[in-house]
Amino acid sequence: MIDYDSMSFNELISGQIMRALTDHDPQFGELSHDQVANRVTRYCFMGALAKINGLSFFPKVAEFCDGSLHACCDPTVLTRGLFSPLSITGDKLIVAVANPWSPLPEEYLAPRFPELELVKVVTLASEISRAIESVATNSGPSRSELEAIDVEDSDDGIRDFDVTTEHSEPMAQLVATVMAEAVKSRASDIHFKVEKESFYYAYRVDGDIGHKVEIPMKLKDRLDAFLLNLMKLPTEIRATAPGISGRFTISYFHRPIDIRYERHRTYRGYHITMRLLDKSNINVTLGKGTLAFDEETLFELNKVMKVPAGIIVMSGPTGSGKSTTLNAILRELNRPDVNILTLENPVEDEVPGITHCDLKSPKEFKPMIASFMRSDPDIILMGEVRDIESAELAIEAAVTGHKVLTTIHTPRASQIIERFEQLGVERWKIAQTLKAACAQRLVKLLCPYCKEAAPGISEHDRRTFNLDDSWASIPVFSAKSGGCAECRNSGYSGRTAILEIIPITPKTSDMLSKGEISPYDLEIKIQQEGKLPNLRRSGLRLLREGKTDIDAIAKVIDMTYTDE
Ligand SMILES: [Zn+2]
Repeated sequence: MIDYDSMSFNELISGQIMRALTDHDPQFGELSHDQVANRVTRYCFMGALAKINGLSFFPKVAEFCDGSLHACCDPTVLTRGLFSPLSITGDKLIVAVANPWSPLPEEYLAPRFPELELVKVVTLASEISRAIESVATNSGPSRSELEAIDVEDSDDGIRDFDVTTEHSEPMAQLVATVMAEAVKSRASDIHFKVEKESFYYAYRVDGDIGHKVEIPMKLKDRLDAFLLNLMKLPTEIRATAPGISGRFTISYFHRPIDIRYERHRTYRGYHITMRLLDKSNINVTLGKGTLAFDEETLFELNKVMKVPAGIIVMSGPTGSGKSTTLNAILRELNRPDVNILTLENPVEDEVPGITHCDLKSPKEFKPMIASFMRSDPDIILMGEVRDIESAELAIEAAVTGHKVLTTIHTPRASQIIERFEQLGVERWKIAQTLKAACAQRLVKLLCPYCKEAAPGISEHDRRTFNLDDSWASIPVFSAKSGGCAECRNSGYSGRTAILEIIPITPKTSDMLSKGEISPYDLEIKIQQEGKLPNLRRSGLRLLREGKTDIDAIAKVIDMTYTDE
């Protein structure tokens, strides 16, 4: 069965796809079903889907989209359903779809265009988003929408800042454009920085800060004031406070996105970092999208989730997606008969049925968790263990029979125990309550449109990264320098999580508390047994599968040593 871009096809359809691909290029006939995702470009694949449905395939449609047809459609419905009306030709309405089997385009569009016959053409999902976005940005708000805003303005509540309509105030338009572009390019952060002779902004995408875009220096104070005003903060504080934190919400095609704002006063002015807490990215499920772990990892993760009481810790540096995975685990554990509480700063992902509490200051931690325990929880998610108080409370909750999920800042899974010790927790206490020590990284994936094949790993890289000589002849792929239009010239597109899991069994727990084994020795022992998922092995698996390159792996995992 073929899996492609989170779509799964049954045996019958998979067979039809393979025949269409082989007709197009006989070489495809040699691929097994699980190689299709890596070896076939989206263009060829969608072309095959079109063919077996008797439809035409158009690789580019956004430029041909007639914006007036979108006036009676909700962009959210189009975006979710992955379809877009394109144009009217005679008595036919041409509609671009990314899923030729979906009945949604007919159901939604037939009542809106009753006189017309629907003609579907197949294109890439990214083309459909591009069509919807290009049309929606150009159209701007209607008269009635503007009037509605005036009425709401008298209201005291803070409205979402809409970044996908036109603003008459130039500063608002600048900020809206910068933020909309950030969402579009899947940025995690936006930086605004004043340096000696330049003022610029830049996006962080897939972990890397991209190129800097200069803004006229004279705008720096107005931009600063605009953002503070957006959060209803007095602009006077910017000269006195060394650091200012805040939050606001933007609306991107009616989708709310929370922004966490941090501003540092610097010698030359300021440095603002805005983190985009895009809920559509956070809302991922285990085994899909960014969390498409291999079967071995999913199996071990499921085992960990079945532990009735104790602490499960996810470690990794900032930006390694720790809380994304914990939130996905919570979604899996979420049942009507289970009482789940979370204590986060900020709340990143609201799940129906789960009680989320947001921590406004570190001082609230202790009273919050105390009142937590009285409300009879089964599972507790604590945002982070950062001090002795949070560490002890996690242990206390585990001892009293709760399942506790939390994160900690350490690079390796085995260092979790040492980190608790550094915070002042005795070794035996953590050894007896910790049930699983996990470490996570996000690895950049190669852009499928421009990745370049290489016959194997060079001798230099094999020696640097401790790879045996068999890698000299394993065909791999690497990022094309300069990339292509599809990956915004980066050579990479998206990231995937890899996970290391060290389960602490009763026997291990006993050995750890008695000091018979050190956490590091335990990690090495588990690596040598080779049964549990680990970062290095998972990274190399992605390399072997042609999904990433050695540079992307070496960036997030220390490959310069091996204990195996
Ligand atoms: Zn590319």
